[in-house]
Amino acid sequence: MSTNEPIPVTRSSMPDFDEYVEEIRSLWGSRWLTNMGAKHRQLEDELCTYLKTPNLALFSNGHLALEAAIQSFGFDSGEVITTPLTFASTTHAIVRSGLEPVFCDVDPADGTLDVQMLDSLVTDKTVMILPVHVYGNICDVDAIDAIARRYDVPVVYDAAHAFGTTYKGVGVANLGDASMFSFHATKVFNTIEGGAVSFRDPGLRRQLDLLKNFGITGPETVEAVGGNAKLNEFQAAMGLCNLRHIDEDILRRKVLAQQYGRRLSGLEGVRILEPRHGVQSNFSYLPAVFDGVQLTRDDVFERLQTAGINARKYFSPLTTDYACYRDRFDSRSTPVAAGLAQSVLTLPLFADLALDDVDRICDAVAAGHSADDMVKLATPCAR
Ligand SMILES: *Cc1c(COP(=O)(O)O)cnc(C)c1O
Repeated sequence: MSTNEPIPVTRSSMPDFDEYVEEIRSLWGSRWLTNMGAKHRQLEDELCTYLKTPNLALFSNGHLALEAAIQSFGFDSGEVITTPLTFASTTHAIVRSGLEPVFCDVDPADGTLDVQMLDSLVTDKTVMILPVHVYGNICDVDAIDAIARRYDVPVVYDAAHAFGTTYKGVGVANLGDASMFSFHATKVFNTIEGGAVSFRDPGLRRQLDLLKNFGITGPETVEAVGGNAKLNEFQAAMGLCNLRHIDEDILRRKVLAQQYGRRLSGLEGVRILEPRHGVQSNFSYLPAVFDGVQLTRDDVFERLQTAGINARKYFSPLTTDYACYRDRFDSRSTPVAAGLAQSVLTLPLFADLALDDVDRICDAVAAGHSADDMVKLATPCAR
């Protein structure tokens, strides 16, 4: 790649054009385009194998999968303990399900739920715990499990970032009572748009199926007030193709993440949020925290923009600071999450990013540091 081409923060993985065409060819014969067709069934089977779970249901996107996962437990009121350091979808899914989010702070080391505070937030109104496996890391699932068992509440994980990760050798789809995966174009594994729910109790499948297809159980029977969240055959075909290359993609991401680690580890004021001990990450994001005195996150963001490099303030703002929520929730109750939202930047990371580009990005970050040092040396009284 030429040295001055713009670098996007992410780039969707796609199979070769011919591979996809071959995959969709049979649809012109069957004329079966959606409603749980052959590709849908095949992808569901292959994902069960890949994620080592017997129970998985596909959805048209991750958000509707999360809403269905929450609603499949059947609560019509109550509190759900969750994190504000996440994408809009997590909080919206709770609120749109008629439940009340209660926000727990996060661990400063990696941005996952602070389990000490979680324990203190459980009340007799708590009906569910909904943590997020942020950035391809995995939450402190042992502690969360123990708390959930003690108070007898289900745990539904937002695992949108965590496709294919493992904790102590256990696949992420086997953690908690249910987990939602997003197969959006920007995720590690994509079906253009798409998602899935994995679940522990096989009895949940019926409820999930009702929620995704209008509550229909037969040609003349509708048993529940369901919506429409079916993954179509073209999406499933994209998934079948991308799944063939997923291990290779994750390995490439790993090599790139290691290069970032080598290049940024010596820099003062920069810290990469590392996965917890025992986690095999999928390297879905490269979250760098700029919390030193030298440079603010926003300075680094601007410097990278100027150099044609697209980073993302992900997640900023916290969901509790959104216009639709800020009158209702107070982000001061989660100060660690608020601090991370001010200081975290996800740097470009995708399977076909060049190693040279990682060097270019790290050079741009480092150049910002030395320039700032020089400013400080030149104007010692300015601060
Ligand atoms: C992407 C994402 C979702 C929503 O998934 P979609 O497939 O885009 O609907 C939910 N939660 C998190 C943390 C995400 O990153």
